[in-house]
Amino acid sequence: MNAIAPRGRMFFANPGPTNIPDSIQHAVARPSIDFNDAAFFAIYEKCVAGLKRLLKTEQHLFLYTASGHGAWEASMANLFSAGDTLLVIETGHFSESWGKMGRALGLNIETVAADWTKGVDFAALRAALAADTGHRIKGVCAVQNETATGVMLPLPEVRAALDATNHPALFLSDTISSLGCLPFEMDAWGIDCVVGGSQKGLMLPTGMSFTGVSNKALEAHKSSTIPKHYFDWTEMGGRRHKSFVGTVPTSLFYGLEESLRLIEEETLEGVLARHTRLAKAVRAAVRHWAGNGDGVTLFCQNAERASDSVTAILVPEGHDADRVRATARNSFNVSLGAGLNKLAGRVFRIGHLGDLNEPMILGTLASVEMALKLNGVPHRPGGVAAAMESLTA
Ligand code: PLP
Repeated sequence: MNAIAPRGRMFFANPGPTNIPDSIQHAVARPSIDFNDAAFFAIYEKCVAGLKRLLKTEQHLFLYTASGHGAWEASMANLFSAGDTLLVIETGHFSESWGKMGRALGLNIETVAADWTKGVDFAALRAALAADTGHRIKGVCAVQNETATGVMLPLPEVRAALDATNHPALFLSDTISSLGCLPFEMDAWGIDCVVGGSQKGLMLPTGMSFTGVSNKALEAHKSSTIPKHYFDWTEMGGRRHKSFVGTVPTSLFYGLEESLRLIEEETLEGVLARHTRLAKAVRAAVRHWAGNGDGVTLFCQNAERASDSVTAILVPEGHDADRVRATARNSFNVSLGAGLNKLAGRVFRIGHLGDLNEPMILGTLASVEMALKLNGVPHRPGGVAAAMESLTA
């Protein structure tokens, strides 16, 4: 089929950035305002309070004009010193990247190895912590939702492993593709540093990220010696906004005010339930496409850890997931996520997080099924009907 000139709206099924609701687009487009203006400061404080409600924390929050990588860097640079050992729980591309950043900052990164399709075995994490009787490990890093694989990590189990071994390490969690999509409770789950970003569950443009920080982490920060300035929490603490060494991205705060309003209007429980409903429909379609095991399959092989934010779909050996993506994009104006790292060309990803509803998901699934057919990728036809069944069960 020839590429068509796109008509109608692009169906954006990437796992981030995600669809930006019209009301957020309009809010972001408001004219500039002085970030020290009292009118802006009121919005700013309202947004900080709203983000803390979303993180479920009464502790500290620092924000950055940076994508998620900035908050990742802030989390490590503020808490540790060169030579400190961190334990990264392997999930996939993003745990690997966070660890790589730690090495670049002079940290000694150790990994609890895990099968990307199933997620970590918590016995292995407990064993690693129990073996560290001298408390060499200063922090444990966990990516709550591995965006590259569609496998999520149950964070309370990480806390339980730290508690069971009486290990004092700081608990760092990446919620970049899970905040506002999967349940999350910073204080109740004893998380010391939470990394989040604007362009996924918050439905905002890319460009702002943040860290929720516990009192224990703020104390540890005082003795950290990794060089930093823009990301330095002490530097920020002396500023009026208690964040942002430099200009505050006011437009993103106009957007964030609207994003938080939308989430609270739907209720967080409602938002999470919608993510679960849509994710189940996507998985029902893929299970149907799998047929007797000769079609495309769910990359995640651990049903209990299947992500409600994103589904990675594995194409059978000898087929190219990128060709499916190209057909979906060029012929049907549907944008899908690519396979990352060692999954390049082997999986494509459907993001089902943020501002999405049933017809958007069904339209995406129908386009994927057509793209599978056009590329001769094995699948049992009828996945969309299976998704409809799931949505009306
Ligand atoms: N962590 C996770 C789980 C992600 O999905 C991403 C990006 O997709 C990042 C970290 C990096 O964030 P950013 O691309 O905003 O720098």
